[in-house]
Amino acid sequence: MSKRILVTGGAGFLGSHLCDRLVAQGDEVVCLDNLFTSQKLNIEHLLQKPNFHFVLHDVTEPFKFEVDEIYNLACPAAPGHYQYNPIKTMKTSVLGTMHALGLGRRLNARVLQASTSEVYGDPDVHPQVESYRGNVNPIGPRSCYDEGKRAAETLMFDYRRVHKMRIKVVRIFNTYGPRMHPFDGRVVSNFIRQAVAGEPLTIYGDGKQSRSFCYVDDLIDGLVGAMNTSDDFTGPVNIGNPVEFTIRQLAEHVVRLVGGAAKIEVARPLPQDDPKQRCPDISFARSVLKWEPKVPLEVGLKRTIDWFRSVDMSQFKAPTPNY
Ligand code: NAD
Ligand code: UDP
Repeated sequence: MSKRILVTGGAGFLGSHLCDRLVAQGDEVVCLDNLFTSQKLNIEHLLQKPNFHFVLHDVTEPFKFEVDEIYNLACPAAPGHYQYNPIKTMKTSVLGTMHALGLGRRLNARVLQASTSEVYGDPDVHPQVESYRGNVNPIGPRSCYDEGKRAAETLMFDYRRVHKMRIKVVRIFNTYGPRMHPFDGRVVSNFIRQAVAGEPLTIYGDGKQSRSFCYVDDLIDGLVGAMNTSDDFTGPVNIGNPVEFTIRQLAEHVVRLVGGAAKIEVARPLPQDDPKQRCPDISFARSVLKWEPKVPLEVGLKRTIDWFRSVDMSQFKAPTPNY
C-alpha cells in the first residue's frame, strides 16, 4: 500500500535520490527544502509527477502535513556549507528535528533522522562501532554540525522515552554520487571537478587521512531499509562502505578514471579537527537490516564522473565562498 512520506532536505543530494526511490515505488511524497545548499534542478524531473509535491520551507519554522513517515534530512552537510553560518546549522539540526518529531508525535508517524559519522568526531576507536561515544570537540569549527547532530540524536531518543515514538537513527558515513553539489568543497566533488577541468587536485595535509566512500544508491537502500524495519528497531545504525582509502589514494583513482594530465598537489594544511581516519563497522546493519553496500568505488566514481561531465556547472550556485 502506498504511504504519504515527508522528506525534509528533499531537494539535496541524498534527499533527491530518496525522493526518486519513493516516488518510483508509488508513495505520495512531500519534499520540503529551503534550497540553501541545493537547487530545483535536482528534482526538476519529479515536479510533473502526480505523487510528488515540492514545498519551499525552512525547518527552523514549524510545518504540518498529513503523512505516515518522515525522513529528516534537512541540514547542510559539507564542511564548507555548514561552517558558512554555523549558528543556523545548529538551529537547523535542533529546531528542525524538534519540529519533525513534534509533527511525527501528533501523527504517530515513524521519524528517521539522518545522523552522521561526525558524531564520532576524530575517532580513537577504529573502525567505528555504534557503541563508541566519540571524540568530538564541542567548541571547534566543526562543532555546529557535530554537536547539532548529537543533540538531534538526543531529541530522537528522548521523544522515544517520553512519548513512545517510533524512531530510526541512521549514522551516515561519507556518501558520493551524481547530484553532489560541484562546489560544495567535499573531497569527491572537488577532485572530480578539478580533474575534469584539468586542474590540480587539492590534497589537504599529507593525504594519509582516510575515509570510506559509499555510493548513493547503496545509501538509499540503507535508509529505506532502516525506515521499514520493525518498531523495535531504533538504531543508531551505521550506514556506509567499510572499504577504507587514504585521500591520496582517492585522488589517484580519480586522476586515472578521468584520464588526462591532472596533477595532485598538497594545497594546504589539514583543517582544524579534521578526522584522521574514518571507517564504519557495519556488523549491526548487516545483521539487523541485512544491508551491505554493493557498488565498488571504481564503479561509483565512473558514474559520478559521467554525471559531472554531463551537467552545466554554471547552473549550480555556490552558496558559500568555500570552493
Ligand atoms: P545537501 O546539502 O545536498 O542536502 C541538504 C538539504 O537540506 C539541501 O537541499 C538544503 O537546501 C536543505 N536544507 C538545509 N538547511 C535547511 C533548512 N533550515 N530548512 C530546510 N531545508 C534545509 O547534503 P546531503 O549530502 O544530501 O545530506 C543530507 C543529510 O544527510 C544531511 O542531514 C546530512 O547531515 C546527512 N549526511 C550526509 C552525508 C553525506 O556524505 N552526504 C554524511 C553524513 C550525513
Ligand atoms: N579534502 C582534501 N581536499 C579537498 C577536500 C577535502 O584533501 O579538496 C580532505 C579533507 O581535509 C578531509 C577529507 O578530504 O580530510 C574528506 O573531506 P570532506 O570535506 O569530503 O568530508 P569530511 O569527511 O571531512 O566531512
